[in-house]
Order: sequence, then structure tokens, then C-alpha cells
Amino acid sequence: MPKRISILGSTGSIGVNSLEVISHLKNKLEVIYLTAHRNADLLVQQALKFKPKAICISDELKYNDVKRQLNNTSIKIYQGREGLLEIASRDDVDIMLNGLVGASGMEPTLKAINASVDVALSNKESLVMAGEIIRKALNKSKSKLFPVDSEHSAIWQCLRGEKLDDVRNIILTGSGGPFREREISTFYDIKVEDALKHPNWSMGRKISIDSATMMNKGFEVIEAYWLFNFKLENIKIVVHPQSVIHSMIELKDGAIKAQMGVPDMKVPIQYALTYPRHIASPWKRLNFFDCGDLTFQKPDFKRFPCIDLAFRSLKKKGTAGAALNLANDYSVDRFLKNEIKFPEIPKINESCLENHNWIKNPTLEDLKELDIWVKEHVKGFS
Ligand code: MG
Repeated sequence: MPKRISILGSTGSIGVNSLEVISHLKNKLEVIYLTAHRNADLLVQQALKFKPKAICISDELKYNDVKRQLNNTSIKIYQGREGLLEIASRDDVDIMLNGLVGASGMEPTLKAINASVDVALSNKESLVMAGEIIRKALNKSKSKLFPVDSEHSAIWQCLRGEKLDDVRNIILTGSGGPFREREISTFYDIKVEDALKHPNWSMGRKISIDSATMMNKGFEVIEAYWLFNFKLENIKIVVHPQSVIHSMIELKDGAIKAQMGVPDMKVPIQYALTYPRHIASPWKRLNFFDCGDLTFQKPDFKRFPCIDLAFRSLKKKGTAGAALNLANDYSVDRFLKNEIKFPEIPKINESCLENHNWIKNPTLEDLKELDIWVKEHVKGFS
């Protein structure tokens, strides 16, 4: 029997890559649900190709368009946030792949965990927003989290077969993004197009900006903390511009295990969907004789203050991660709309982290209220 999969965010970069993986593993993986935000045409194409039971278009203005195009099919069509949460709550799938962008991906992750469905998690914001809530939900559920983020997939693969007691450090690698060497005094001149140009990975717009500020690496530290249950001081970052090593673990005897490959999200996506197997795939492979020298640098917290904000939020816990995450969603959105300058992203994020009404053990309701406050606070910067 093929594994039954639902894909949230099927028209985004992760969603499209996931469907390529599923196309090549047709006998092993079957699409049951698809959801998209507003790309109606691509969602319809995907629905016609993969014939899911149901789909959801979050943007309600696009609902009639989708319905009309799928008129002659038996595919059920949901709409809006409610439709998305309905599909995320279904227990007739084996794995829900969460490829949503930003804080809005958190609640669907919880819904799947509560339905005892395994989650292939690309939406790191779920753990940044609500790591503690998610960990508690996992303890009460049969559901497991499978990382899709390339760094965390690498660590997951390195940890296999090891006793956790024998592992000293998790070492997250990061390329350093497009501004690793740019003169800091010119950061105010950075244009949206410059920030969208990631040197190695091709990704969605929001995560490309997060890579340029290195907020993404900071979030990945938080994600690793909640996924693997390591102490904060044992999670390290190494800048590795070539993105050949996807991440490493250091064992207590000094041995290091690294997972490597070409920067292609299909590899970690496939592993999350076929775990514990590494199944033959047709994608491009790493050629050691082409990849040049591998180099390593210390992360520069002055150049990239967002990394430091992530560490600070993890020390505080409670609502700190959520405040930082929400702030970053809104500040990046404003940067993408040309309303603020690049160096203002960390400043706004820091202001939200420091000035929000901190709560030690927040509920989902508290996080929704925080969202409203942060949104207003971020709007106030000009
Ligand atoms: Mg990553």
C-alpha cells in the first residue's frame, strides 16, 4: 500500500518539489489532499494530475475559479483558513507535509499531531512559534515529526544509530547568504532583488530574505533545539559558503559526522516521505571533482544581528520565539513591499522581542493576541 500524503502549500517551492518526488515514487506515495494559498491555476493543474480526494484554496476570492475548473471531477474543494485547518485535521493520511510559509503554518502542524498523523515539517515557524506546545502535543500523540529543512534532515541522518548521550554538539551549516562579504555600511542600499538572490539554494521569497538576514539560521537553531532536545550551548553554527555539507554532529570522542550532497530540497523531502529508507532517485548527484574547495567561517553576529536575536529568544522561551517569528513575518513582508530598508528588519524584530507582553506558558489564544499586537507594532515603524 502506498503511503498516503497530504501537502499543505502545494504550489510553493517545497510543495512543487514534493510533487516531483511523489511523481517519481508513484507506487510508494499517494496524494490525498493538496492545499494552496492563492495560486489557483497551478493548484487545479496539480489536482488534475494527482487526483486527490480534496483540495483547499485559502484565498476565498479564488474559490469559484477553482470550482469552475474542476467542475467535472469528484474532487471536493474547501476554501479559506477553515478549509485548510479541516484538511490538516484529517486522520486518513499517513504523513502531512507542511510546506506553508510563516507563522500561519503552526496551527496546521498541531492539528495533524492531534490527529496522530506524522508531520514532514518544512514550516520551521511551527517550532519557533510554539516549540513547547508542539512538544507537549507530541508526547500525547502517536505522531512523529520528520524534518524537511535540509540542515535538520542532515542532523537526523547523522544521529541515526548513535546514542544521544554520545553526541556533544549539533553543528548547523549555513551559506551566509548573498551579503556574507558585502560592506556593512552599504546595507541600507540593498534592494529586494539583491536580497532574493541566494547563492546556492533556489527557494521561496520569504525564506530567501530570511537567508539574507540569516534570521533563517537563527530560526534553525530554535528548530533544532525543539526537534532534537539538545542544550542551547551544544547547538553551533558554522558558515560554509559552498552548501555542500548540509550539517554535522560532533561526537564526544571527537569524531564528526557530516551529511553532504547537492543543494536540492527534493533529497530531504524524499527522505522525510520514505523514512527510514533511502530510495534510488534520478536527481543530480554531488561530484567531488566539481565542487571545489570547502571553506568554513565563524558566523558574524554584528553583520547578522538576527542570529543573536534567535539565541536571545531561546534563553527567554515563553512567547519570545513567537514574538520574534511574527515580527519577522511582518517586517520581511514590509521589506518585500519596499516599505522599509534591509537593516530595519533586525531592528523591528528586536523591538518586538524586547517590548511584547511576555508570557511564560502561552496558550494558542495568547499567541493569537500576540499576533495582533506585533502586527500593529511592526506597522508603526516608518
Ligand atoms: Mg534550512
